[in-house]
Order: sequence, then C-alpha cells, then structure tokens
Amino acid sequence: MMAGAVDLQRIVSRSIDGGAVHPLSVASIDGTAFGLGSTPDGEKLLISGRAGCGTGFETEKSIAVEGGELVVCALTPANAQAIRRVLPFTAPRPVGGRDVTIGLGDRLGRAGAGHIAAIRGRRAWPVLAQQSVRELTLTGRTFGDVLDASTWAVLRGGFSEPWGADGDHLKTVQWVATALTAGLTMITADVSDHLHGEFAARSEAEVRAAYAALDGAYRQEVEARYLSSGVPVTFTTLELARTVLVYRDAVTQAVRLYRAGASIRGEAGFDFELSIDETEYPTTPQAHVFMAMESRRAGVALTSLAPRFVGEFQKAIDYIGGLKEFEESFAAHASLASALGYRISVHSGSDKFSVFPSVGRLSGGRFHLKTAGTSWLEALRVVAAADPELFRALYALALERYPNARKLYHVTPDLGALPVAAGLSAADASALLDDVNARRVLHITYGEMLAVPDLKARLFAVLSRRADEYAKGLEVHIGKHLALLGIGPREKA
Ligand code: ZN
Repeated sequence: MMAGAVDLQRIVSRSIDGGAVHPLSVASIDGTAFGLGSTPDGEKLLISGRAGCGTGFETEKSIAVEGGELVVCALTPANAQAIRRVLPFTAPRPVGGRDVTIGLGDRLGRAGAGHIAAIRGRRAWPVLAQQSVRELTLTGRTFGDVLDASTWAVLRGGFSEPWGADGDHLKTVQWVATALTAGLTMITADVSDHLHGEFAARSEAEVRAAYAALDGAYRQEVEARYLSSGVPVTFTTLELARTVLVYRDAVTQAVRLYRAGASIRGEAGFDFELSIDETEYPTTPQAHVFMAMESRRAGVALTSLAPRFVGEFQKAIDYIGGLKEFEESFAAHASLASALGYRISVHSGSDKFSVFPSVGRLSGGRFHLKTAGTSWLEALRVVAAADPELFRALYALALERYPNARKLYHVTPDLGALPVAAGLSAADASALLDDVNARRVLHITYGEMLAVPDLKARLFAVLSRRADEYAKGLEVHIGKHLALLGIGPREKA
C-alpha cells in the first residue's frame, strides 16, 4: 500500500520531472494518498494508490507506477467538490456554536496559507471563505470560486480543524440560495434595506402618530411582550413605538431570508447571522432585543447578531471614537447576545486594535469578528516592496477612481494629505500602507484595480512569486489581531 507522505513524495519525484509535494498537504484514506504538488505545469492535485484511485476526479493524466498509479488532476471546481467529498476536513461546516470565530475574507484567493498559519493552534475557529456580494461583484468571482480557494488552502496546509464559509451581507432570497447551493455554511443576512431609519430621528408626536396608525391587534401583542418585565431591557412606550416603526419590516425580511436557507439546509443546518450594522444610527439595546426576539418567535435560529456600535468602524483603520463610549455600547450588546443565546458579531473588524482588548474581555470570550480588507492591504504591501512600479500604477489608479469606489463604501480619508503617485520611492510606497488616509483609499479601490487586466495579472504574478512573504506578513498581521483580542494558544487535549 502506498499511502504515506513519504511514499507520495517519492512517487511524485520519480514520476514527474521537477515535481514536489507540499509536505503538509498529504492525506491518506483507504490506501489512497492525496496531496497538492508543484509541477512544471503548475500546481496539481496528486493522487496515488491502486488502479482507479482517481475515480470521481477530472484527471489530466495517469502515470503507471509500481503497484498502482499516480493520477494528476488540475485544480478545477469539479475536483474541489470531489476532494471535499473524499476528505471532509476540506469542506466547511457550521462553526457558530464555537466560542470564538474569526472571519478572514480573502478577495484574491491567495491569503489562505497566511490565514491558516495565523490561526492554527489558537483558541478560535476560522471562517476562511467569507465574501459579500459587493466583493464578488468587484472582484468578478463567484461563491464557488471563493470556497474552492479555501478548500485548496486547507488541503495545502493540512488544516484538519473545523472552518466555516460565510455568504456575507446577503440581502435577497436569491443570494441566500446561491450561497448555500455553492456549499457555504453561514449566511449573514443584511436587512438594512428594510429598516425605516427616518423614524429614528422623528419627533415624539410624529412617532406616536405613526405608531397609532398600525394595526391594533399587532400593537397590543408587542406591547404585552415588550412593556412587560420578561425582556432583558426596559422599553418606554415611546422607545417601543420608535423601535417597531424602524425595525418591523426588517424582522419580516430576516425571517424570509432564514426560511430560504432552511428550505435548503434544514432548520439550524447552517449558521445564521443577523446584521443591522450598515446604518448611520447606532443600534439601541431595545432595537437589538426587538430584532432578535421577534425573529426567534418566527422560528429563526440565530447564531450571531451584528449591531451598529457607537463610534466609527471605517475600513482598514483603527476605531474612531471614545473608548469608554464604545465599551458601554459593546458591553450592553454583548450581554444581550449572551442572555438571548447567540454571539455578538463585530463587522469591519480589520485593524480595530484599540478596541480589541475590550471586545475579548467584555464578550466573555464569545464573539465573531470579521476581517477582509486588511488581507488585501497586506497583499499590496508585498507589491510595494517587490514591484514599486506596479504599486505606483495601482496607487495612481486608486486616486483617480476613488470617487467611483466611494459610492459603495463609507470612508472619510483626507485626500489632500496624500502624495501623488509619480516618483514615489519603494520606501514611500511601503509607508503608504501604514498611512490612515492611503489605507482607506487603497482598501476600497480594489475593484477598480482588478478591473484592469494587465494590472490584475501583474498583481497575481507578484503574489505567486512572493507567496511565502505574503503568508508570513498575514501570519504576523492577523496574529496581532488575535493577540489583542485575547485569543491565546489552545491547550493540548
Ligand atoms: Zn457589516
């Protein structure tokens, strides 16, 4: 039986000129060894065992070897699906029941190695595949592409721990179905289009009048529920009226999105996060309780909820606002989540270093935190060092196309403080990756950059050449996130 790592390595080096297997990637099952290897034709899935061991895979070629065969397969979507079937650890699964999970969005499909290196052996579980519809649109990818990149990264790194896959900020039933059908295991339901934020600012008289116009039986029902002592936060009649007016339709939409998921994966067969973070007004404790309790009454199995906290969570820079105010807001939401039986979720969690210790402590070590843009910026850091000319071209385009990119993201950099691209030295280019204004501009313009085929090809070429450097940079940078969040090494069982 030729199943071990040494055997696969030996067979590959004898059978393929210049072929080598990534040592951690070898996994054996029933006398067949699977591994990822580099070959003169690029990276391949390599399978060795008895004749027919490659059954179920799209094979490029089969090489007869002593006692069996070596099958060479391209990293196609069909083969990613086949490997998930044969080696279940390469498939995502629900992880919402774990104490700490970290969303590690990877817009380029190249960050997996660094993400796995950062989280391996720590007291947290990764959501390795995490993309929003906005990101898919801007990068020209599908949920299948995102999931497959994570599957190959997991196999390459021999990462056998549970990991999740999140369809982030999904607003429609169609997108929920698309994500779950592609194999994702978590839905982040974004109900912001169904919030009536105008009522958050209306006068008391206007709110009372609008509330009085609602169906009487419905009003009686919610009053009995929320003006009683059986809820974890007290409501005044005005607070209840305002909350109902702003959030009632959003509950209906949350239920609709959950039901769409349950019809595919079954009740509680997937992680379901409710997100109300992309609004201008902070979520009140009353709004949090109303959204969660009304959704649950309608049968929604919530695994996490993402409120809009006070202060500002702009992309790829630290928290803006007072730490004390944040701590009060966060502690209130975290304790409600804990009382109601799910975890608090922090979106736009990239680089929020000043609040991470509070998040870890005040959540009691139970939370989900999403990052994405920071891994994209680490890729640009590799480019700035390796190919300053390419970086100047990307940066020039970012400045030029910023007004367009800004339509999709809320950031407020000081553009006047930024240098022009021409003549930037390599050192200046690298320094921009630590500048709060440049980071926001470079973060949100990824779609503009990737839409230029030549720039995109050169960017990927640099990341291929400098794959180890990118992984190392991510390991350190994401590692800094984890350390400040209080996520230590896991004790040996
Ligand atoms: Zn969000």
